[in-house]
Amino acid sequence: MAFGRERVELKTLEQVRVMRRAGLVVADVLAAVRASARPGMTTADLDVVASGVIDAAGATSNFLGYHGFPATICTSVNDEVIHGIPGPRVLQAGDVVSVDAGAFVRDAAGKGWHGDSATTFILGADGTLPSGSPDADPADDALVRATEAAMWAGIAALAQRGRLNDVGRAVEAALEVAGAATGQELGIVEEYVGHGIGSAMHLPPDVLNYATSSRGIPLKTGMCLAIEPMVTRGSGQTRELADGWTVVTSDGSRAAHWEHSVAILEDGITVLTAPDAGAERLAALGVDVVSVD
Ligand code: MG
Ligand code: MG
Repeated sequence: MAFGRERVELKTLEQVRVMRRAGLVVADVLAAVRASARPGMTTADLDVVASGVIDAAGATSNFLGYHGFPATICTSVNDEVIHGIPGPRVLQAGDVVSVDAGAFVRDAAGKGWHGDSATTFILGADGTLPSGSPDADPADDALVRATEAAMWAGIAALAQRGRLNDVGRAVEAALEVAGAATGQELGIVEEYVGHGIGSAMHLPPDVLNYATSSRGIPLKTGMCLAIEPMVTRGSGQTRELADGWTVVTSDGSRAAHWEHSVAILEDGITVLTAPDAGAERLAALGVDVVSVD
């Protein structure tokens, strides 16, 4: 990733439109999982919901079989940060549940174009709690909301069309503001990063979630990037479990993960995996989005 020498795939508007189709499937997956999650369900049950949505849309999971990954979504609960494997774990009220989903759809030539998005929610007795719910642990709710806000700040930074690491600087700054507001220590996970996306789920460049002295490559029309901060209530240090996938916090603190796939277009940005293309959240940050629908 250093020095910007790697090739970054630039998409045509037509290719971005196919990616939008994939992005909306992924949005539907996450909405269905959020709506169906209940205490007593297993994480494998959530995976069944996800695969049903992808199948019904005529899309294809890009997680299933990825380097041998055995499921359609990643379900990462409490101290699990990312890459949790759906299985027999039974969800409980109070759990902080991160769900990461992806799918691709094919263009007229049969080439696959990918979407990738993640959300984190807190489970209440009757299902997913709304943001700010008094039934949620306030520190967990602050973590989830701060991570989501940091993601939107990182996405908004793309609209300035400066350089790649403007994203990481914006993510870090947003988390500092959120942490100061609540007095809560928040740790950015630095070992895992966002990425380019398009004809594959993971493409160059890496998208850091923290500021560095390097500003990174210039942002250009046709770049599509997955912005995905991972944040913990502790140090941000992580380790991988013996299953070879699940990443947990080293200190046992709870973690959140939010992600959207975003396209940089001639006239602005569009959030491919948000049903409204990011219009509502980005308007609050002074950014108008472009629609490709
Ligand atoms: Mg993802
Ligand atoms: Mg990703």
